Amino acid sequence: MNKQILGIHHITAIAGDPQTNLDFYAGLLGLRLVKLTVNFDDPGTYHLYYGDGVGHPGTILTFFPWPSAPKGRHGTGQVSETAFAVAENALNFWIARLTERRVAFTGPVERFGDKVISFSDPDGMRVELVATRIAPPDRVWEAGPVPAEFAIRGFHSATLREADHRATAGLLTDTMGFQLAAQDGDRFRYALDSGSPAAIVDVVRAPGERPGRVLVGTVHHIAWRTPDDRQQGEWLAELTRRGYGVSPVMDRKYFHSIYFREPGNTLFEIATDPPGFAVDEPQAELGSHLVLPAWLEPQRAGLEAVLPPLRLPQAAEVAQS
Ligand code: ZN
Repeated sequence: MNKQILGIHHITAIAGDPQTNLDFYAGLLGLRLVKLTVNFDDPGTYHLYYGDGVGHPGTILTFFPWPSAPKGRHGTGQVSETAFAVAENALNFWIARLTERRVAFTGPVERFGDKVISFSDPDGMRVELVATRIAPPDRVWEAGPVPAEFAIRGFHSATLREADHRATAGLLTDTMGFQLAAQDGDRFRYALDSGSPAAIVDVVRAPGERPGRVLVGTVHHIAWRTPDDRQQGEWLAELTRRGYGVSPVMDRKYFHSIYFREPGNTLFEIATDPPGFAVDEPQAELGSHLVLPAWLEPQRAGLEAVLPPLRLPQAAEVAQS
């Protein structure tokens, strides 16, 4: 095989109020807002990208904030939990921080040798922190509100919830290069040997559970990393040959994307590592102002009039310095 999935590229979810989302992920969890832009398919709404200081693939959690949309429903055919990696000694810090901010959490519980705490974001999306020795220390936002030694270090993994896990497992192992690494009851852990962070996905078997509905508080899709356009083209060809309905390549400005549904109905994307988030603003300024693709620049004044104003964490830091 001359093409390889490296790990998780990004996870995209639907939020309600954008300021509440920003306060939670940048303010409380300490991620960097690495891109403030609009939804290219619906430019009257934001698209918020969070990540480490650079916006490395494998650290990127993005949201479409839709303040007037209804709540989604958790269930099968979804990414049910998004798990971030933290250092092994970081859990007491996070337990204290979540307690102080009155965020209810469960755990720590032991999962495949790591300790995990679980909580929900303000819209009900499920988030986990996994204290693990494989948390890469160079995947942090060092200038964020959380001390670097305890800060989130990109994704650890994601959990897919499936009524019947077998066909999904087949896609992961027969096509995408994962191997079954561990099993505990209804939880199956698949891993890539790419040597990259965030190379783990858990599949939880939940027979008889009703399908989820993707709206506020749920994950919209999960994207997997491919190093370049050539390999992405090979994935497009192979997935098509295997009978998946795959989208054409789409230019998402910061990466190029193809989309398809895995057999359990979760939307998968394969996204290129390049060009990355510094393509339209300097790294030092990532996320500090609204950026638009060239085709939307003529509409900037109109869009800024309809988009709700946001209090940006970086702007606050500049004002204080
Ligand atoms: Zn995506």
